[in-house]
Amino acid sequence: MRNLLIPLLMVFVLAGCATPNTEVPEVEDVARKLEEQKQHLFVFKNRDAQRQRFLNISLPLMKSAGDLCETHQPEWGIRIWHDKMISEGVRSAIKREYDVGPYLSIRDVFSGFPAEKVGVKRGDVLLKVNDWALPADQSDLKMILAKLDETLKKNKNGDVELVVQRGEERKRFFISPDAICDYKLVLDFKDQERNAFTDGERIVVTLPFMEFFQDDDELASVISHEMAHAIMGHVEAKQRNATLAAAPAFLAEMALIFLGGVNTGGDLTRAAAAMGANAYSVDFEKEADYVGMYVYARTGRPLEKMPDAFRRIGLMSPRSIAGEETTHPTSAKRFVALQKTLEEVKNKKKQGLPLLPNMKDGEIAPGQKEDKESQAP
Ligand SMILES: [Zn+2]
Repeated sequence: MRNLLIPLLMVFVLAGCATPNTEVPEVEDVARKLEEQKQHLFVFKNRDAQRQRFLNISLPLMKSAGDLCETHQPEWGIRIWHDKMISEGVRSAIKREYDVGPYLSIRDVFSGFPAEKVGVKRGDVLLKVNDWALPADQSDLKMILAKLDETLKKNKNGDVELVVQRGEERKRFFISPDAICDYKLVLDFKDQERNAFTDGERIVVTLPFMEFFQDDDELASVISHEMAHAIMGHVEAKQRNATLAAAPAFLAEMALIFLGGVNTGGDLTRAAAAMGANAYSVDFEKEADYVGMYVYARTGRPLEKMPDAFRRIGLMSPRSIAGEETTHPTSAKRFVALQKTLEEVKNKKKQGLPLLPNMKDGEIAPGQKEDKESQAP
């Protein structure tokens, strides 16, 4: 009975509703479908352009900051792809526009990196990597990528031999990777917030953030800031502060349970942990701005552009310009501090000094520890 009641109710409700009065055009199914494909392709192109832009900006930062980082990963300066990596609905449209097929091929070649220097080009189809000839059946792409990864890892310190097909030609390259900072670069297409952050292992930037920062130098500035957080170990430091702050609160809570019979359900411990994690947040942000300037300055981008990024942050979030500092310094303070750092970096460049941040007495600049220890008598 209930099943019948709802449509019946709908009829009465709709009967009472006002309707539009104009004659709107009919949309044919095929026309709609064709337009859907065009819009999906439009989305793909935008994302692909932003992905390339993100890597074009981030990879040189990860390379030039190399000696500030404790651990490194090999970077050949290429990305590969395969038509199976594209979702089925848009695959045919993308294949018409891009050079991608059922075999692994070069998707990007990054300027200034080893693959570009030896002449690898976009569209080159992989035939052989070292001793391993890629199979013709690449339906199990996951397995093939794992095998490729394994083959490359074996040669991370030496030359990788790459044989590719380019049109009618077969080409052979020997590529020795650069060592870059060991962070995973992630461009997040799902998160709709404008955001950039690091968890110590990844440098994550969201698509709306990329779109907001239209200027490459400004975008490089904020990515440098995130890298500086990772380089200075801020995530780990915040976790340590949270644990330290939570410990006495946890004991107090236990005492309340055992002595007073009061169970606060861990609220006190959680609140203390959050306070601990945020205790030096503003100071850590200041440090990330400061060290970030050094990361940025190593790429040869115009130095004056870095403080500008923090005016852009004021534009993105006017509430950050002035007022109370809970997690970050105000964007006005950040701009002024960065202009001072700018002078410091310029002076070091002029004097030919290494671009390392000034440290407090007894502290060693990031990534420099081993050198100092090995020099010690
Ligand atoms: Zn930050």
